Amino acid sequence: MQGEGVLIGCRQVFVRFAECNLACDYCDTVYEPGPTCQIEAKPGSGQFSSHSNPVNLSEITCLIADWQHSNNNVHHSVALTGGEPLLHADILQVWLPEMLTILPVFLETNGTLPAELEKILPLVDWISMDIKGSAVTGSPTPWRDHADFLALAKDRLCQVKLVVDAATTNAELLEAARLVNRYAPDVPFVLQPRTLATGPALGGEVLLRLQTITAGEHRDVRIIPQIHPWLGVA
Ligand code: SF4
Repeated sequence: MQGEGVLIGCRQVFVRFAECNLACDYCDTVYEPGPTCQIEAKPGSGQFSSHSNPVNLSEITCLIADWQHSNNNVHHSVALTGGEPLLHADILQVWLPEMLTILPVFLETNGTLPAELEKILPLVDWISMDIKGSAVTGSPTPWRDHADFLALAKDRLCQVKLVVDAATTNAELLEAARLVNRYAPDVPFVLQPRTLATGPALGGEVLLRLQTITAGEHRDVRIIPQIHPWLGVA
């Protein structure tokens, strides 16, 4: 189940790719490629088995088609996630046309690889792009890459997300909102409080204040925390 952003609650098949070009402080993903990968026995079971890596992509397409047909077509889309899926754009160029005969494609990306996006843009139905703010990631915000990415992705974007916590500055928040508004004025800008073991890193009062500040730069700002940790689903 999609647990964040504007598609929250939609059932998706997640295809998680190894490797990332960034190294965010809060990253909770093991993205080193290994000799095996994990495939769930059936959707939502939480039971995974190991398979040789890399997997045969046609076998993955057949598996997803079978899941879809045997589960009342419950899935909304296939979510490409990571790591950073665009590091595998050359493979995706080959696989996505086959995948699109089964389900639409939703790309979750850190929004820093515009040249790779260009390779698969016509094969993607929705893009969820993150802005990687320095306050939370621990690295300088890649504003230039984000701008180039937004310019390219704008017609496919369903949201732009910024993870926020107590370190997020008003200056960074406003810069992010201006950037979204410049390239994608009709796209929701989502403020996602960082998820801690105890719950969202920021309380409602603070989040409302951040939303109010940001609304001066972009008209559709939404506060959406992750919900999958509360429901115990992946
Ligand atoms: S961009 Fe995503 S996958 Fe990559 S390091 Fe940051 S949080 Fe992790």
